[in-house]
Amino acid sequence: MKKKVLALTMAALMAASLTACGGGAKETTAADTTAADTADTTAAEKTEETSAEAAGTEAAGGVLVMATNAEFPPYEYHDGGEIVGIDAEIAKAIADELGMELEIEDIAFDSIIPEITSGKADMGLAGMTVTEDRKQSVDFTDTYAKASQKIIVKEDSAIASPDDLTGVIVGVQQGTTGDIYVSDLEADGTTVERYNKGFEAVQALSQGKIDAVVIDGEPAKTFVAQTEGLKILEESFTDEEYAIAVKKGNTELLEKINGALKTLKDNGTLDEIVAKYIKAE
Ligand code: GLN
Repeated sequence: MKKKVLALTMAALMAASLTACGGGAKETTAADTTAADTADTTAAEKTEETSAEAAGTEAAGGVLVMATNAEFPPYEYHDGGEIVGIDAEIAKAIADELGMELEIEDIAFDSIIPEITSGKADMGLAGMTVTEDRKQSVDFTDTYAKASQKIIVKEDSAIASPDDLTGVIVGVQQGTTGDIYVSDLEADGTTVERYNKGFEAVQALSQGKIDAVVIDGEPAKTFVAQTEGLKILEESFTDEEYAIAVKKGNTELLEKINGALKTLKDNGTLDEIVAKYIKAE
């Protein structure tokens, strides 16, 4: 009993001293009871522990802040007062694996990377495509999903393939890969209309204000199912992969997330989460 009390005291002291060291956005939470509770008696025995090792102990009780844009079903969206979806559940499962508490921040898609580089959020999960450009600002974990940009048009549209996007008005969500790649067509006379939310682009299409929408395949399916008179073209505009973004150089967190992701892939949790939101065709 006494040993247990000592262990908890040591854990609390270690957590407190780590807090004093600073260096992470959420370290103040390390001194709370969760940190003390998760630390076992071995913590007291390892008084010689280096600060790097101790940092691992600290993170085991902290808060993991996820930045996302909850306008992207089925990956992240609002359901009542809650943010749900594949990414939200993967993030929760990762936090559970790491013994951390998940906190979700819902912000504009193009604010997610700045939120991570500034250290306000620990990771970005937002159906975020790995691109060379983004790799200049953040590090990406192993990928967890394959995706593609799809083209949505009216059912009676003359647009039948990606080539037909030249010279027409295309709606995209600001700052997404759809925006980035369709913008390459501007030189050939394509007009790009940028919306804050993908669904706003789909509504504009439905109202005849634009000719097509380029957006990720899964949200495309969801939005088309919710709107009359639209269809998704067979041929993809691009093929992409989603990964989790973390602060550049934060290899400790990157490795932890990759470890958790591997566990979730190996034990079937990842597939279960995906199957819950995406029905096999
Ligand atoms: N996959 C796209 C991108 O990374 C869109 C993501 C999103 O809108 N949430 O840019």
